[in-house]
Amino acid sequence: MGGYDNNKPSLSPANNSKTTDSVLNLEFGDPTMYGEYWRQHGDKGTVVISGCDSMSYFTDMGNLCWFLEPELANSIKRLHCIVGNAVTEDRHIVVGSGSTQLYNALLYAFSSPDEPEPISVVCAAPYYSAYADVTDCVRSGLYKWAGDAYTFEKDGPYIEVVTTPNNPDGSIREAVVNRSHGKVIHDLAYYWPQHTPITHPADYDNMLFTFSKTTGHAGSRIGWAFVKDKEVARKMIEFIMINSIGVSKESQLRAAKIFEAVCDSCQNSGSENFFEYGQRLMGGRWEKLRQVLKNSEILSLPEYPLVYCNFSGKIMETKPAFAWLECNDSDCASFLMEHKIKGRGGRRFGVDSKYARFSLVGEEKEFDNFLERLSGIHGKKHHIK
Ligand code: PMP
Repeated sequence: MGGYDNNKPSLSPANNSKTTDSVLNLEFGDPTMYGEYWRQHGDKGTVVISGCDSMSYFTDMGNLCWFLEPELANSIKRLHCIVGNAVTEDRHIVVGSGSTQLYNALLYAFSSPDEPEPISVVCAAPYYSAYADVTDCVRSGLYKWAGDAYTFEKDGPYIEVVTTPNNPDGSIREAVVNRSHGKVIHDLAYYWPQHTPITHPADYDNMLFTFSKTTGHAGSRIGWAFVKDKEVARKMIEFIMINSIGVSKESQLRAAKIFEAVCDSCQNSGSENFFEYGQRLMGGRWEKLRQVLKNSEILSLPEYPLVYCNFSGKIMETKPAFAWLECNDSDCASFLMEHKIKGRGGRRFGVDSKYARFSLVGEEKEFDNFLERLSGIHGKKHHIK
């Protein structure tokens, strides 16, 4: 979810070649930074699938989510139990082709063809730009993007998405509309120790997680939802049935194996703890980024509070996957584009264009290139138009 530019889908991969003339594309949060970890520990995540395996559409007909691989369900529960970031008991697990599909499935589950008009979908700005794109993509008669939750005033049913930590700005959030007739989706894509202190096991009615941001395996397209209400889960499963007749078994089995490897890395001293690795990497990047922008009169970053992390047993800061830059008095994305750094401008996230978002989760070379370009521009105020 995220390959969109100026409302047109654009699937161009990051062209972050080494030449100084080319544009450094940091528009997408493609989490390739974990590649090095998996190059070193890849054997622990290898899955062998023979030609006769996993051929049927069906998996576990005794389960409400009949296309969910039991190994995946078990590894998801084990992972959350070790990390302590979500309550897994007494709720249904629904697997999706990325959490993007599960977001669509929840919109479907929360809307009704009997309503006189489409249900409004809101999220506090700055919001993840893809929610708006995805919600309105097919001009559904069931639901409609209604923008910033802070300014939402319409009476009647609504759906609010709460992204915490938030994409793009890393803030920790709660629902803001809080009215009866509201349905809330908690998108917890970044509620993992490499990005934020784990303060409590999340215990919401509808929670979304994704393989993409947990271990970096965005290409497998696996997400999972924890859903308390059986009827909501049933409607989501109906949507996935109609939309894609289930979810790739190969991807599910791969995710299960990778999660087991991550759990083992947390519990056995034999291999490097995956989350500690991620924390070190993200911590190092944030430190370098803040250092480079320390004396900038043009660009600034948000500050994050220091909070105790139950998983790490340490006081930590949020280390978001994106730099949410604010540019004094000018269009941040255009300004940085003049310096051959491509990000996504604030307007796409429902806020002023003086903000823009830049990915911090690419490969080391890409990140170093970002720092190098940034260090060349801070302080040069005359560049602002
Ligand atoms: N939610 C948030 C907050 C995200 O940042 C992303 C990916 N950028 C997604 C959902 C989509 O995740 P997936 O790859 O599982 O579709």
